[in-house]
Amino acid sequence: MYYPKKFYVGDIVETKKEHPCGSKQWEVIRVGADFKIKCIGCSRIVMLPRPKFEKSVKKTIKSAAPEENNIENS
Ligand SMILES: [Zn+2]
Repeated sequence: MYYPKKFYVGDIVETKKEHPCGSKQWEVIRVGADFKIKCIGCSRIVMLPRPKFEKSVKKTIKSAAPEENNIENS
């Protein structure tokens, strides 16, 4: 079963394969049909189509999702 996962600008994700610099963590700097991600280790920016991005991501380290379901009314 497949469901589309949401990604946001500012997310930190971990990829399955590590970058030649040794880092596996990337910051999402653009979302859409094409994604742009920046390597945390060496600041290199890579652009890739969404399906390829989704395949290469192992997990989200830190989500920049808006916390709209978590509003406090105290
Ligand atoms: Zn790198």
